Amino acid sequence: MLDLKALHSVRNVEDAVRLFSETEGRGLYVAGGTVVVSVGSPNVDFLIDLSKAGLDYIKRWESQGESRSDGVAVGATVTAADLARSDEVAAVDGGLLREAVNRLGSHTIRNRATVGGNIASWAYPADLPPALLALDALLVLRGVNGERSVTVRDFYSRRSEVHSKGDLIVEVRIPPIAAGARAAFEKIGRLNQDIAIASAAVVVACDGHTVREARIALGAVATVPFRALEAEAFLAGRECTGESLAEAARIAVSGVKPRRDHRASSEYRGRMAGVAVERALLRAVDSATHSNQ
Ligand SMILES: Cc1cc2nc3c(=O)[nH]c(=O)nc-3n(C[C@H](O)[C@H](O)[C@H](O)COP(=O)(O)OP(=O)(O)OC[C@H]3O[C@@H](n4cnc5c(N)ncnc54)[C@H](O)[C@@H]3O)c2cc1C
Repeated sequence: MLDLKALHSVRNVEDAVRLFSETEGRGLYVAGGTVVVSVGSPNVDFLIDLSKAGLDYIKRWESQGESRSDGVAVGATVTAADLARSDEVAAVDGGLLREAVNRLGSHTIRNRATVGGNIASWAYPADLPPALLALDALLVLRGVNGERSVTVRDFYSRRSEVHSKGDLIVEVRIPPIAAGARAAFEKIGRLNQDIAIASAAVVVACDGHTVREARIALGAVATVPFRALEAEAFLAGRECTGESLAEAARIAVSGVKPRRDHRASSEYRGRMAGVAVERALLRAVDSATHSNQ
């Protein structure tokens, strides 16, 4: 339930951040409202509505990666549905975010849920964060002291160091995946579009039948989404056989203490995480090796 004293609608990012720091009481930004309004946020005194803050754009971003081609910048209030519809995004990320969005809730949720809200809501089973981790995406944050960019990886793994109260997510910057690389997202839930029990996002580049680079990210398993760096190192330079991909999936979940909740026991969640990683790797590698032929 919400018991608000104020609801501010802002036209730009500067006003949003300023009002957040100047208004008394406990505040929250609200974008699509699928969490803030439908799930409810007790003890919130004020909301700052971002829906008219000018952050609903998708545009080219000149990334300085090795591939020399441009990435895309996605404004924080772009909805999940619009993200999935964007051919500009699919051209850069190999269709990974489109796959993740297609498993995110129902049409109704996807039409309201925003990219920034999905990243910020801190819900460990959220679907976009593993995909953004596998893409090595960056976040532009705006706080009272100005703007800065942080990797999505740091945003989750070093949150207390890189994030301050009142920071607004302005946009997500997605660098292009390597030429010939392929991406895949897998989610395991009780129903097709249910909240994830486990999810995995991978980006794999191959030279013939040898893995050149693999990025593997897991969602819903631990308190935060994370990259499986040991499994990535294991795969680099290795022939892509069924055995090596299964071993990489095993390594990806080893050492993780999976969460337990009403959807899954810790043991079941751990096993499903391994299944999600293996399925995603198989699909991406199959597509990458066929594209080389
Ligand atoms: C029925 C139902 C099913 C769902 N299914 C799924 C699912 O399958 N997969 C999934 O991933 N999620 C799911 N969700 C969760 C939710 O819809 C998504 O996480 C959504 O992307 C949140 O975005 P929003 O714009 O609605 O966030 P809001 O509700 O507006 O905000 C959520 C949180 O993010 C903060 N926030 C929002 N925007 C910003 C910003 N730009 N900067 C800083 N903080 C910000 C808010 O302050 C708040 O704390 C579901 C929700 C419901 C109600």
